[in-house]
Amino acid sequence: MSYLYDLLDDFLSLLFPRLCYGCGNHLVRNENLICTECYVAIPRTNYHTFKDNPVEQLFWGRCLIQRGAAFSFYNKGSRIRRLIHNLKYKGVKEVGPELGRIYGRSLKGSEFMSAIDIIIPVPLHQSKIKMRGFNQSELICMGLSESTGVPFDIVSLARVTGSSTQTKKSRYDRWTNVEGIFHITDPELIKGKHILLVDDVITTGSTIESCSSELLKVEGVRVSVAALAYAPV
Ligand SMILES: [Zn+2]
Repeated sequence: MSYLYDLLDDFLSLLFPRLCYGCGNHLVRNENLICTECYVAIPRTNYHTFKDNPVEQLFWGRCLIQRGAAFSFYNKGSRIRRLIHNLKYKGVKEVGPELGRIYGRSLKGSEFMSAIDIIIPVPLHQSKIKMRGFNQSELICMGLSESTGVPFDIVSLARVTGSSTQTKKSRYDRWTNVEGIFHITDPELIKGKHILLVDDVITTGSTIESCSSELLKVEGVRVSVAALAYAPV
C-alpha cells in the first residue's frame, strides 16, 4: 500500500513540482519547503554560543541587551536571503515558522535560550500588515516557540498607530520620532521576565533599540535579541 502511495506521490510531484524556496530546486520526498542542500549550506553565525559577538556589540552604549544572536549571515544572493524574500514579499508564510523551528532546534538547551522566559516579536506597522497580511516576525516566533518550548507573546508589545507619516519629516524629526513608536499594552504580563525580542533581519539595530527601551521601562525586565539574519551596514 505504501508503495502505491509513494508512486502516487511521485506522480503528483511530476504534475505539481514542489520547489525549494531557498534555491528553486525540486524538493524530494520528506523535504519540506527547504531542501537538504540549503539546510546544510545556510551560513550559521552560531552567535548564541559566545558572548560579545557582533550582534551584542551592535548595542553597546545604546541599550542594555543581555545577549544577542542571529541564525545566519545575510550575504548577497544567499539562500537565507531568498528564503526571507519569499517570506516577506512573495507571501510564502510557511517559510517563517519553518525557519523559526530550524533556528529553535539549534537554540534549544543552550545557555542563551534557557535564560529566556518569553519570546516577543517586533511589531510590524499596521500599514505593512495590511499590505502583507501578516507579521513575519510573529511567524518566526511561532516556530521558535514550537521547537524550544518557550511561550511567545504577541500582545504585550505594540506599535503606536498613526506614526507612519515619516516621509514628510526632516531627518532629525525622523530620528526623534523613533522614540515612542512602541508601547507596552500590559506591563503586568512581562514584569520580571527575560524577554527574547525577535526580528527577521538585524541591520542597524534601531528598531530593536526602540522596542527594548520601552520593554526595559517595565520592572525587572531583561531583554535578549535574536534574528534570522544579521546584515551589518
Ligand atoms: Zn534549496
